[in-house]
Amino acid sequence: MASDPVCGMEVDESSSDAIIAVVNRKKNYFCSNECRDKFLKNKM
Ligand SMILES: [Zn+2]
Repeated sequence: MASDPVCGMEVDESSSDAIIAVVNRKKNYFCSNECRDKFLKNKM
């Protein structure tokens, strides 16, 4: 399991509907698009 860096929730990275954002060649997994958006906003 991977953990969502925004909310800390565990995310199944093997799931076909896992939400992923690659930043600096590192894969980050998210529980929802909302968390992904928050994460990407913080990176800009
Ligand atoms: Zn989350």
